[in-house]
Amino acid sequence: MKHLLSDGGQLIYLQGIESSYIKEIDVKVLGYESGGYILDKTIMHYQGGGQPGDRGMLVSGDLNIPIYNVKKKGKNVLHLSTLETQIDKGKLVLDWERRYKIMKMHTLQHAISAVIFRDGYGSLITEVFPGYGFIESNSSDIKIRKDGYKINEMNKSLKRYSVSRENLDPKLMARCNLDKLPKSVNEVSVVEIEGLDSCACAGTHLKNTSEIGNYWVRTPGKRVEFGLF
Ligand SMILES: [Zn+2]
Repeated sequence: MKHLLSDGGQLIYLQGIESSYIKEIDVKVLGYESGGYILDKTIMHYQGGGQPGDRGMLVSGDLNIPIYNVKKKGKNVLHLSTLETQIDKGKLVLDWERRYKIMKMHTLQHAISAVIFRDGYGSLITEVFPGYGFIESNSSDIKIRKDGYKINEMNKSLKRYSVSRENLDPKLMARCNLDKLPKSVNEVSVVEIEGLDSCACAGTHLKNTSEIGNYWVRTPGKRVEFGLF
């Protein structure tokens, strides 16, 4: 059985900043193909945009089906598992501890990209993992502030909203590389850190920068590397 899961309403974690905090959800299982389960909706982020795919469990009765990664293939979001079985519904449970670390890292990345942009450095490539991340800047010798910008002390709230592509304000998102947005995307998910940053992003983020906790940041060459203590 093949079903399509579009970029729209079925990606529950795109519905607002709070939706990244949903840890489990009841789902219908639409099929299994290419090593992964296709569901009617998901709280699991699929690998891409500089953020890893989520992990967790699909629970059906006494059966715990481990999900080791989530990837998009064509229009389908595949919840990858080596355990193939016929079920029509279940509970999708996120590996929350890992995801929360990724949310901290991703929010930290947005904030660092924003503060270095003010000093004239662009972020060409960004990648975050649970506890570690990096930004490839447009400078071969990037200098950052010694205090690491104290982003965790900023106490800035985040919000997420949807805007149509033609209504995107390029000035507001100057530090964001909008050329990377796939042409097929008409509705753009924007993540805003109050008074600091706005960027088109389909990843998962915190509600407030104060949740980041203690972190480190360093600059070997043109990279900015950062991580959690
Ligand atoms: Zn993001």
